[in-house]
Amino acid sequence: MEGKAAAIKINMDKKCVRCGEAGALESGYCMGCATKLITDMAIGPHTLSAIQHQIGVLFREYQRKIDKTVKACGNELSITFKVELKVLNNQVAVQTGIDFTAEKIKDKAEVAMVSEIQGGLFETER
Ligand SMILES: [Zn+2]
Repeated sequence: MEGKAAAIKINMDKKCVRCGEAGALESGYCMGCATKLITDMAIGPHTLSAIQHQIGVLFREYQRKIDKTVKACGNELSITFKVELKVLNNQVAVQTGIDFTAEKIKDKAEVAMVSEIQGGLFETER
């Protein structure tokens, strides 16, 4: 591989697959549409914050039981955190769940509605 990962190639003979403007990137979109698609991104840093917050809440709520269980299970325990995302009109419904076995504990946090619209223009997170 040559060092061409940072290059943005615009093919002036190719039309944008979205708006028809001449000059498309390899993705098929023009610069304008590519920018719009990035800023319209539903999943981003706010989604991550909501996930982290919910996992924190679930963890704190169950840390005593986790502590008890890990000791009862020979100091070894597998905890599963499940993250469910659903995008509806530029908002993301975030719901995380915790699952660990010894006592068959399973619970879910409240759904958090998150919007990335206030985010910076080129704050990309992919
Ligand atoms: Zn376009």
